[in-house]
Amino acid sequence: MPPVRRSTRLSSPSARRSTTTTSIGKNTTPSSSAPPKKKSSKKPNHYEFGGPLGTTAMLVGLPAVCYGLVAACNPRGCSLDPRAWHSPFDFVPQKTSSFWSPYLASAAAVALWFAAQAALHLLLPGPRIEGVMLATGERLRYKLTGFKNLLATLALSLTLGLRTNPATGEPWLALCYDYYVPLLTAAVAFSTLLSVVLYAASFRAGGKKGRGKAKPPLLAAHGDTGCAVYDFFMGRELNPRFSFSDFDWKEFCELYPGLIGWVVLDFGCAAKLWAVQSRAAAGEGGGLLSSLLSVVGAAAKPSSSTSLLSSFSAPMALVCLFHAAYVADALWHERAILTTMDITTDGFGFMLAFGDLAWVPFTYSLQARYLVDHPTELGWISIILILLLNAGAYAVFRGSNSQKDAFRRDPTDESVRHLETLETQSGRKLLVSGWWGVARHINYCGDWLLGWSWCLPCGFAHAVPYFYVAYFAGLLLHRDRRDGKSCAEKYGRDWDRYCRIVKWRIIPFVY
Ligand code: NDP
Repeated sequence: MPPVRRSTRLSSPSARRSTTTTSIGKNTTPSSSAPPKKKSSKKPNHYEFGGPLGTTAMLVGLPAVCYGLVAACNPRGCSLDPRAWHSPFDFVPQKTSSFWSPYLASAAAVALWFAAQAALHLLLPGPRIEGVMLATGERLRYKLTGFKNLLATLALSLTLGLRTNPATGEPWLALCYDYYVPLLTAAVAFSTLLSVVLYAASFRAGGKKGRGKAKPPLLAAHGDTGCAVYDFFMGRELNPRFSFSDFDWKEFCELYPGLIGWVVLDFGCAAKLWAVQSRAAAGEGGGLLSSLLSVVGAAAKPSSSTSLLSSFSAPMALVCLFHAAYVADALWHERAILTTMDITTDGFGFMLAFGDLAWVPFTYSLQARYLVDHPTELGWISIILILLLNAGAYAVFRGSNSQKDAFRRDPTDESVRHLETLETQSGRKLLVSGWWGVARHINYCGDWLLGWSWCLPCGFAHAVPYFYVAYFAGLLLHRDRRDGKSCAEKYGRDWDRYCRIVKWRIIPFVY
């Protein structure tokens, strides 16, 4: 979800320092290590996202889009024409038990999923890193176990999920596809409930001096306008935490349950497609695990692998591979999130909670769900071209993000010290060569091209699977404008100089 950049307000949860921790921003210039100026957040310069009206519309509209994608694209068809749509609730499985309705089972699954990710995060070892300096001059510690959570989850879900479910004769994982709508409903309900709790908790008073340890919560400037619906959407509290733990609700939700859930939903769709196609091709009811094991012997006995190979979908494999690689990359570079707007500036409210827990997993997995309902085929040349597009886009995306990250961490680092920079009056420098000399948001360009490589495996029969690139273009254009505005405020005339040197915003020679 698109975050906002604003200054933060006083008072904060405790931030303990530890000799074993590493600091983000330690080596940056004096201006970056000084606490941001305090600003009266009750008087915002302007509202984001259309203010109270716009955010009210988004509270209703964003979940509606999630359901709308199922209405538009489902086993009965795929169309942009609303007259051809079907109710998403037509695709909810029948109740099979007197107690467990699909919705109740999905609610339990989502709650269990969230708890399991939190338990892994708490139990797995991981470095503790300090985030950027808060308005109070303190830094919060973050435990980073994202990549380990992903590996542990994949190991577990593939080992258990590829076994055959006796009730369906399909891998257990395929239930992610069957229960897509109830799971979406549970995720929407869970994230809304979480937002309500976060909003209510942000009004708690701190312990009085000498009588309690808890401090009043640190509020995000644009989440503390006094307009309830707007603040609920934007998020009031900047870093919700328990006072006794460094478990950070926002950082956890940004990276763990939603992103990893997206990959598992994808794999569930792949398992469903595999099961359906294997059955159709060979009339076999064998589990996916046994089918996979038969691959080992396939080279020696090619005839035994015929049905397996005919049920292999290259487009689905590409989509799953690309999405999993994107998530693995985000989790491998987990510390980079600590300097993003989402963490440093946005409050944790409906925008991020819903975005992280419902929007990302259920709209970003659209291509995988589409391929189950409308399988496509790709020739070798198309596969190679899509792989090349993905690799090239990844090089731009990762190269640019890592270059800025390295520069902001330590401008004298070997990888960036040769780059040309522009001095600014704020004391910070801006890169004007390397990736950041090509376009002011060349990282967005790489990210958007990655999105194309996710959609192209779906072929050109339908437009709906291209929802991601259309939505993401809007998000990135909006984000680029807002970041430009924020940088203009931060760097003043130096930003104009920078824009004259680096002319292109996102796509060189185009925009
Ligand atoms: P960016 O990584 O684009 O960072 C913008 C900040 O970088 C500016 O505010 C400025 O901060 C600094 N900066 C700008 N220009 C320069 C320069 N020339 N030299 C040095 N520093 C510079 O922020 P985002 O968080 O928007 O994006 C990060 C990544 O996340 C992107 O790749 C984006 O595509 C991706 N993303 C993906 C989403 C998804 O849903 N898939 C959603 C949102 C983002 P300062 O000067 O203060 O350091």
